[in-house]
Amino acid sequence: MNAKRQLLGLGLPELQDYISELGQPAFRARQIYKWIYEKQTASFYEMSDLPREFRQQLDEIAVVSIPRVLKQKVSNDGTRKFLMELDDKKKIETVVIPQSGEKNTRYSLCISTQVGCPVGCQFCATGSSGFQRSLESHEMIGQYLGSKRELMKRLKQNDENIISNLVYMGMGEPFFNYEQVISSIRILIDPQGVNLGQRHITISTSGEAVGIERLAREDLQVTLAISLHACNDELRDRLVPLNRKYPIKRLMQAISDYIEITNRRVTFEYIMLDDINIAKQDAQQLIKLVKPLLANVNLIPYNEVETLPFKRPSGYNVRQFYQWLVDGGLNVTIREEHGSDIEAACGQLCIKER
Ligand code: SAH
Ligand code: SF4
Repeated sequence: MNAKRQLLGLGLPELQDYISELGQPAFRARQIYKWIYEKQTASFYEMSDLPREFRQQLDEIAVVSIPRVLKQKVSNDGTRKFLMELDDKKKIETVVIPQSGEKNTRYSLCISTQVGCPVGCQFCATGSSGFQRSLESHEMIGQYLGSKRELMKRLKQNDENIISNLVYMGMGEPFFNYEQVISSIRILIDPQGVNLGQRHITISTSGEAVGIERLAREDLQVTLAISLHACNDELRDRLVPLNRKYPIKRLMQAISDYIEITNRRVTFEYIMLDDINIAKQDAQQLIKLVKPLLANVNLIPYNEVETLPFKRPSGYNVRQFYQWLVDGGLNVTIREEHGSDIEAACGQLCIKER
């Protein structure tokens, strides 16, 4: 038996092609598009404005698959980590983070782009757990639809915008899966469908310079974040092995071209590792590198991973480094930690089921 055709992830033109192959009038594609993305149903039987036989036919030959939530863990701060299963039984983790401690708050969703990650950053649980494959766009859209459905069900809420921000910061390097990531974003922002705000979407890259160059030409208004973590090649080569391919000079060129083309402000993420990258000299190098770009800097105090040797700096050291950057004229924030009690914080996602 042939595999069923996956309709999630198709844009309207592709859906139209498919529908015309089936000998149906073009307007049916628009109806289906609306059901999938606007009303967000995965069941053809619920698509009540389609003829009954056509619904039956679709059910036999096509599918809208949303990853199954196998398990979820809820943190004291309300962060939830979902273990999701894909059609080929591979598993990914997806995290939703409440934006405030209030009731009826909205959530940010941290989307995974790959199963594992081939970059292999030394400090990252995902990177040290290997790489299996990249995700398809429907699997990223499915993380949104599946998480939203689960949240609404669990919290007994019917706020259609319960997930208001998306960050492509889960497992994987988004720009190693460039086409599928961009195509998922185009579907998620389509006003005729899911209709998420572009300005509420962030993509974080470990420094894949070619992806940055390509994104500059997409005419999208998403936010670009770059995981810098070190300002000299010697250290960055060790921490983020992709630096050997795109050293800092090459990376910074891509970023400044990006800023020039898009006129958008970028964010540099800087993980804070005790005794490694938070000395005064590191602050000076960071200021020199970032200040001319008028970028934001987001400091991420390291979330410790049991199997890895790195340590989180003391609160004092975190504040001191922060202050050096502020005094140097940078626009800096310190990332709040969420969900570390359930290993859902940045860099704690892992492909081994727990
Ligand atoms: N692969 C992409 C996006 C996912 S990682 C990237 O590297 O940018 C999201 C962010 O979490 C990155 O800035 C990453 O460096 C950071 N991170 C990874 N492991 C971490 C850890 N153990 N503690 C804190 N931040 C971590
Ligand atoms: Fe991959 Fe990002 Fe982890 Fe590096 S930090 S291994 S790029 S997920």
